[in-house]
Amino acid sequence: MIKLLMFIFLLLVIYYVRRVVQGGHSSTRTNTQQPIAREAETMGECAHCGVLVPMSEGRQANGLFYCSAEHESLGPREVK
Ligand SMILES: [Zn+2]
Repeated sequence: MIKLLMFIFLLLVIYYVRRVVQGGHSSTRTNTQQPIAREAETMGECAHCGVLVPMSEGRQANGLFYCSAEHESLGPREVK
C-alpha cells in the first residue's frame, strides 16, 4: 500500500516538474518576439583597442573616441 502511495506521489512530482519546465500552460505560449528595447545607437570605434562601443557608453577626448577611461588615459594606439 505504501509503495502505491509512493508511486502516485512520484507521478505528481514528475507532473509538477514538467509543468514548471514547460513554463505552465504550453498551449498559451506566445512566440511573439520581444521588441528591441534599445534603439539602434551610433557606434564609435575606440581609438586605442578598436572595439565598437555605443557613443553614450564611451567617451571622447581630443576629438578621438575611447571605449573606457582606461583607454582614454592610454591614448590612441600607435600604428605600426
Ligand atoms: Zn578601447
